[in-house]
Amino acid sequence: MFAHGVFLACGRHRAANRGASRTACARWRAAVFPSGPRLGATDFSDASAASTEVGKASPRVFAKESPRASLTVTIPRTAVTVGAVEQIAALRVSESTPGLPKALLTDTHGRHHSYLRISLTEKCNLRCLYCMPEEGIDLTANDKLMTTDEVIRVAKLFVAAGVTKIRLTGGEPTVRRDLGDIVKRLRALDGLQTIAITTNGITLHKKLEELRNNGLTHVNISLDTLVPAKFEFLTRRKGHDRVLRSIKAACALGFDPVKVNVVLMRGVNDDEILDFVEMTRHDPINVRFIEYMPFDGNKWETKKVVSYAEAFALIEEKHPSIRRALLPGEDKSEVGKNFKIDNHTGSVSFVTSMTHNFCGSCNRLRVMADGNLKVCLFGQAETSLRDAMRAGADDEALMETVSAAVKRKAAAHAGMHDLKNLKNRSMIKIGG
Ligand code: SAM
Ligand code: SF4
Repeated sequence: MFAHGVFLACGRHRAANRGASRTACARWRAAVFPSGPRLGATDFSDASAASTEVGKASPRVFAKESPRASLTVTIPRTAVTVGAVEQIAALRVSESTPGLPKALLTDTHGRHHSYLRISLTEKCNLRCLYCMPEEGIDLTANDKLMTTDEVIRVAKLFVAAGVTKIRLTGGEPTVRRDLGDIVKRLRALDGLQTIAITTNGITLHKKLEELRNNGLTHVNISLDTLVPAKFEFLTRRKGHDRVLRSIKAACALGFDPVKVNVVLMRGVNDDEILDFVEMTRHDPINVRFIEYMPFDGNKWETKKVVSYAEAFALIEEKHPSIRRALLPGEDKSEVGKNFKIDNHTGSVSFVTSMTHNFCGSCNRLRVMADGNLKVCLFGQAETSLRDAMRAGADDEALMETVSAAVKRKAAAHAGMHDLKNLKNRSMIKIGG
């Protein structure tokens, strides 16, 4: 279990409550322990009334200093190791794909794109502060979203042109009913080596075994806090225990590594960095600290970004043995900077989109739920593959449209300070 304690307080009372008198202070909202009282969503209202905004000084949400040692999931491992290319090859049944020139997905800067992220939906069962704008989003009408067949057609053509890895994302991909079918049909694509999912883990534990059997090879589960009450604050929903269950299920099913995505935000979860590192001690968990990125409606501010350098220094102080390492199956285009720590089964990575961009080795393309192709996460250019398909484009014409967009891809995106002024979709509509 991830046993943990948290105290919520207004900034004014924080220092005063470090000492033994903390429980006497009326402004402490709660202490949350597995066996103790739990906070409901409304428990935030007094201390925070005014704000649910990330990073605001009040309320400060910070962890009690002690129980790092107890933050361990001990998971019975099966003999199965998923993630191997052989596994997916063995599962493949038919659906051969005619080879297409790799040049179609190679841009004018010499970058070949072998990694496609497909957003399956704009819907989500959480409302993360950094992803979903407070006012919500206008959902694209269902008939304007890509159908299962359109998703598979796009995937098939991209794989034929050299894509070897597809990640299914969203919104929350597990809310899409045809997810199992999509995975099964993807695994039939010759040349596709990796079928990954990025999910919030709320319902994953119920479907993971079936998805694994259908061909899913890699799992990223997003979890920004180990503190249940803070989870409710950050996601505006309950479900912390279900996410932990999904992480355990993924470990037990043999996914290795099980990637856990943590978006670091100053004043929100930067006090939990070492606790997250502790998750890697006994389990094949790769904790990925992601720099907080600006998107429409997420109230991003420079001061809320916890940089890779800062997080690394903190970890290095506690774990001097931390050193660069390759993860299983990692290649040079991997965006994470990956590290191992002595005697830890898992690993720690940093996704440094804000402070060290990785545009030079970018191999990613994105197709969003409405069928728009986005060649750069921070670029505004979009090309509708859905419209092309529905207008009757044949495969050749469709790939010409794709290729023309790829050729327009810029060498690098803007710097951190310009990004916040860039008009972009909200993250939930792009698909992370
Ligand atoms: N719902 C799924 C999930 O949460 O994992 C998939 C979609 S979500 C948009 C994909 C990833 O983007 C998640 O790991 C999430 O934490 C990350 N993300 C969302 N907004 C972000 C932001 N502003 N900065 C950095 N990462 C962000
Ligand atoms: Fe939903 Fe994922 Fe965005 Fe959170 S990060 S609101 S879980 S899509």
